[in-house]
Amino acid sequence: MSQKFIKSTRKIIGAGVNYKEILRQTNAAKPANPVIFFKPISTLISSNEGVIKIPKVFGSINYEAELGVIIGKSCKNISTDQAMSYVAGYCLALDMTGMDFIVDARSKGLPWCLGKGFDTSTPVSRFISPEELGDPTDVRVWCKVNEQMKQDDTTRNLIFTIAELIAFTSKYMSLEKNDLILTGTPAGAGPVKNGDILECGLGDIVQMTFQVEDE
Ligand code: MG
Repeated sequence: MSQKFIKSTRKIIGAGVNYKEILRQTNAAKPANPVIFFKPISTLISSNEGVIKIPKVFGSINYEAELGVIIGKSCKNISTDQAMSYVAGYCLALDMTGMDFIVDARSKGLPWCLGKGFDTSTPVSRFISPEELGDPTDVRVWCKVNEQMKQDDTTRNLIFTIAELIAFTSKYMSLEKNDLILTGTPAGAGPVKNGDILECGLGDIVQMTFQVEDE
């Protein structure tokens, strides 16, 4: 099963705070627009690699299991109605995050990139075709740490839909074939440390397992 797409991915676009339960837990209002950030492509690893490394500068890192969307052809300034026709397929992804860094950066209005950009911070599964995934607006996303379920929700509870994320981002930049969009993570994200085992999945369609280690 192929992970070839990551060899030609030219950008990774992440969506922050994009599940309704997170808003509910923090009593926050619905944002007017998606929160979009970049991750460098050097963060990508395939599920075969099996190890996520915590950079020495972080005490721990957070797991964020997400549905990844893989763009199929270039687009710019597309509407929400057109957006899904530019999707080639999907993957399971982890958006590993140096959360202490992000919390500090957020409070000072500084960029997130050093908390999102470390090596091994974007593990991805094999490519999943739209036919195999089924309805992208109701995909179960789950994550376990040391066999304990920590995240379990469905893309039905996204704040901004996949189509809205694509259309919004395409107003600002071209999306290109094999670009990867991380659609946000369900409530329950939290820290992992050296020795933890991280397992995540999209329903029963695909799953992946990683050992977490200090760099
Ligand atoms: Mg995320």
